[in-house]
Amino acid sequence: MEQEIKKEYDVIIIGAGIGGLTCGSYLAKAGKKVLICEQHSKPGGYCTSFKRDGFTFEASIHWLSGLGKGEFIYKILEELEIQDKIEFIRFDPVYRLIGRDFELILSSDLAKFEEDLVNMFPAEREHIHKFISKCVNIAKHPLKMLRYLKKTNEEIIAPLFRDQKLKKILYRLMPPNYSLSNQIGMVSKGDYRYPKKGTSQALSNLLAETYQANGGDLSLNMVVNKILIENGVARGVELANGEQIKASYVISNGDARLTFLKLVGKEWLDEEFVKELKREVCASLFLVSLGVNMDLKEKFGGEMIHYIPDLDELETSDPSKCPIEIIIYSNRDLSLAPPGKSTVAIAAGIPYDYMNNWNTENGERGEAYRKLKEEVADQLIKTAGNVIPRLSEHIACKDIATPLTYERYTLNSKGSMMGWDPTPENMSKMFKTRKQDTPIKNLYQVGHWTFPGGGAPTVMISGKNCAKQILKRSKKEGR
Ligand SMILES: Cc1cc2nc3c(=O)[nH]c(=O)nc-3n(C[C@H](O)[C@H](O)[C@H](O)COP(=O)(O)OP(=O)(O)OC[C@H]3O[C@@H](n4cnc5c(N)ncnc54)[C@H](O)[C@@H]3O)c2cc1C
Repeated sequence: MEQEIKKEYDVIIIGAGIGGLTCGSYLAKAGKKVLICEQHSKPGGYCTSFKRDGFTFEASIHWLSGLGKGEFIYKILEELEIQDKIEFIRFDPVYRLIGRDFELILSSDLAKFEEDLVNMFPAEREHIHKFISKCVNIAKHPLKMLRYLKKTNEEIIAPLFRDQKLKKILYRLMPPNYSLSNQIGMVSKGDYRYPKKGTSQALSNLLAETYQANGGDLSLNMVVNKILIENGVARGVELANGEQIKASYVISNGDARLTFLKLVGKEWLDEEFVKELKREVCASLFLVSLGVNMDLKEKFGGEMIHYIPDLDELETSDPSKCPIEIIIYSNRDLSLAPPGKSTVAIAAGIPYDYMNNWNTENGERGEAYRKLKEEVADQLIKTAGNVIPRLSEHIACKDIATPLTYERYTLNSKGSMMGWDPTPENMSKMFKTRKQDTPIKNLYQVGHWTFPGGGAPTVMISGKNCAKQILKRSKKEGR
């Protein structure tokens, strides 16, 4: 998609992630002249897919929420008049937890999940019931959810149960140090969906097409190197080729550190703000995408399988012991694999700084990097063989992404999955501002580094919020 760029716009958006695309779609629909610059060759940021040897692979997304009729993301699609142009399937069961001596299925039939847990931990019967009821109740009342965001999953789970094994199983679903994530409550609402066809790229493409149909300009393979600032006010951007484009408003959909420390520059920011940019970012993921000569529809569905080799090693990044997640995306969308074959995604929480940033030197990905990622992938494939027997014998193609790969393709610091680390402190900081504006006048932020935080549906809310703020302001200022 070659795009001719004008010299001046009402709004320039840096990044065509779901946040930037949603914001651009609202602004273009309202008649604003908008330019989106995206450094990658396709729109979507993390919501993209890639093809290898006849297989299509999801780059990141496991599921999307808020897409039921009347729910908040469905409303955004309605407002953009595209709700009929994309279909989402609900997949149920959502999770399968497999350990050495247990297998649990979490589906919208929570009574069954409760019964299975009680059978495993009879002494915890009452507490299990209380906990599941609490999760369901919180999910029914979003305002209650806000109150619980101030607590970690551990603060909610630990005092309720005595059995360490039970706690650990629950922590696999709801990481202990994260602000309440309430997977169990969400499952009760059946709120786990996935595009019926074409992976999350289908949503990104639809938003990009809608935006362009409303007159928005989208420039791919276009890196923004600088945000132009005059007297503390954002006035436009400088592209990698040195060209300067003017705009009344600039919106960054990119990484917060990159936006402020590189594109803006410390000279425009106060010390406290710069200090805040040093806080911890959300963890990334290591992902092996396999095309396999196996039909896996009989034995599995579209659920996320958590395989936990050792409950005492939940936090380890040792590839031979760490827990893994497996998703057979082709069981959700048959078009992702040739007939009779399947795609298998295997993921593990092996961090960015594993083995000196994956054996890179000054960011250079050389032979040692490639060797290490192959070794780690082989180990995870071996572990996954406990769930899908003889998996390694049926591999037709393989792609490996480290946290550095995620960083390279999206420019998110350390390949962060969801912006800032979703701790209660970071969540409450975001909720305090509840705005998309920044310390630089006319510079706004959308996406998972700003309110209301990470996850593809959530960043759509930030995109909508930002567009509304800008439309309101420009109307008031007569622009
Ligand atoms: C492995 C993984 C699994 C995930 N699973 C789920 C899930 O199951 N469900 C869910 O809801 N969420 C999930 N997430 C989180 C979700 O994908 C993100 O929170 C969300 O997609 C972020 O969208 P965004 O618009 O904020 O930014 P991004 O997707 O990061 O997009 C930002 C865009 O800006 C571009 N950009 C940045 N800087 C520049 C620049 N200077 N010039 C030009 N372009 C620039 C980047 O190239 C990128 O395309 C997952 C994330 C990961 C990594």
